[in-house]
This record gives sequence, C-alpha cells and structure tokens, in this order.
Amino acid sequence: MKEPILGNPQNTIRILQKYQFTFQKKYGQNFLIDTHVLDKIIRSAEIGKEDMVLEIGPGIGTMTQYLACSARKVVAVEIDAELIPILEDTLQEYDNVRIIQADILKVDLVKLVEEENEGRPIKVVANLPYYITTPIIMGLFENHVPVKSITVMVQKEVADRMQTGPGTKDYGALSLAVQYYAKPYLVANVPPNCFMPRPKVGSAVIRLERHESLPVSVKEEKLLFQIIRASFNQRRKTLANGLKNAAELNFSKEEIETAIAKLGKPAGVRGETLSLEEFARLSDFLWESDKASGKNE
Ligand code: SAM
Repeated sequence: MKEPILGNPQNTIRILQKYQFTFQKKYGQNFLIDTHVLDKIIRSAEIGKEDMVLEIGPGIGTMTQYLACSARKVVAVEIDAELIPILEDTLQEYDNVRIIQADILKVDLVKLVEEENEGRPIKVVANLPYYITTPIIMGLFENHVPVKSITVMVQKEVADRMQTGPGTKDYGALSLAVQYYAKPYLVANVPPNCFMPRPKVGSAVIRLERHESLPVSVKEEKLLFQIIRASFNQRRKTLANGLKNAAELNFSKEEIETAIAKLGKPAGVRGETLSLEEFARLSDFLWESDKASGKNE
C-alpha cells in the first residue's frame, strides 16, 4: 500500500490548487498539515489489521491515508460533495477505504457497523468538525453504536470539559456523559499552526476508551440523562428549579424536594456540585417516586 503523502503541507496545497477547492467555514474545515500530529493520532488509536475504523469528515483524505495503512477497513463519512472527487483521487491506491457522502448526524451507524463489521465494535478516529463535536459524541454513546474507542481532535476547551469533575466551570452534561460511558485520556495539545486554515482556538486530541462495565448503575438511563441535561440547562438556578422547569421532566415540587433531601443535599444545592454517582442516585429516587405514583407503570 502506498505511503501517506498528504500530511506534508506542500502536497496538501498542490491538491487544493489542482481542484481549486475553497474552504467552507460552515463545515468546520481545518485540515491537518502536520505529520507528527498524524502519527501521534494513529499510534494512540492503537489500530491493528483486524480493526474497522470509522472516520468522520475525511476532508481531502490526509488522515484517511494513514488509517488505511494501519486498519483492515476504513469507512469515511464526508458531508461536502466538493470533496468527493478529491477523495477519489487521493485514496485511489487504497482499496480498503469506502467513502460515503452524508451528514454523519443522519447516518444510521448501528446499521453501518452491522453491514461493514458484522456488528463487532469499531474504532472511531477523526479530526472532528468543531461545530458538531458534542452531538457526534453523544450520538455515538446514546445510540449504543458498538465502539471500542474514540480518538478525536476537538477544541481544547471541549477536551477540558470531557475530563473535568464537579465544582469546576467546565463541568457539565458533556463531562458526565463522557465519564458515564468512557474513560477520557488527553493524548496531545495541538496548536493552530498544525491546520490549514488555522483555527482561532487551540485543539487537543482526546481518546475515549469505552468502559467494560458502567461506573454507576441506574434504573433508567434515559431519565438519568434527562435529569443531567435539565440540571445544566439553567446554570445559575438551583437544581430543584432546573428540574422543575425542564420540559422533558414531569415531577412535582414535592417529589423533587424529597429526592434532593434523600440525597442528603440542601434544598438550594446546584447541579454543578453533584458527582456522576450522586446524579445516578437522584435519578433512581425520582424514578421510584414515579413508580410509587404509578407514572412509570
Ligand atoms: N480529516 C480532515 C483532516 O484532518 O485534514 C478534515 C478535518 S475538518 C476539521 C472536518 C471535516 O468534517 C471536513 O472535511 C468537513 O467537510 C467534514 N464535515 C463537517 N460537517 C460534517 C457532517 N455533518 N458530516 C460529515 N462530515 C462533516
């Protein structure tokens, strides 16, 4: 298989000029032009010859070339139709790559993994479009796509949010969702000059390794995440008010106050001070009060 050539900035410029490609800001296009960063992503993703890799947003195929050399198969989903002829050119020598032109948020990934990997867990590797990082990652987890690990380039601030705990300004629904499903590891911080065009913010590569067994157990996962989202929707409000005002939830003031008291917290507690374990207990208390009132029969 051909050695990857696109990590080098001159080769990237040559391809962009050949196709007179214009970057689309709305698609979050910042292409990687640093071979060290590419090598580091591939190494930390620990891709072997048995692996199927899903790449989200291959761009002109830079990382795809590296992935194709290490994996058994690469499926790359790209939204921008202008990039498809470029990808057909840059990946023509790699016969283990399938390119799909689609919006990743509209692809049935469980079905794709079934078709392409007989339902066995895949690895996700991507330099993500920053405008949809959270829905992509939450979608992979909440839809129960069989994934072994997710190694992605994200905005530095998002990487911080994924790794932080209660009581910090970055702590929120994403921190809790990531930590519920996976263990996050920071692989590298990546400065803007490793991309073309340069993003305004710093970036980081993060690896999320799926837990073999979940760190907390709850009666109903959907309810846990509804509660978490409601608690962070109105950051400056108390937890009780956040839960009361949530359109997704239907608990009375008394049910909420009783559940918070059972948790051993004061009535005015804020959601951002609760750990994942405490959210899980709160979720079960509320689930039980629903059961007692016959709502979840
Ligand atoms: N992987 C390439 C690289 O590292 O050079 C490009 C990364 S660039 C940050 C993000 C890529 O995601 C772009 O190619 C962009 O067109 C694509 N993209 C944006 N939104 C998308 C979506 N909803 N579905 C699939 N791809 C998308």
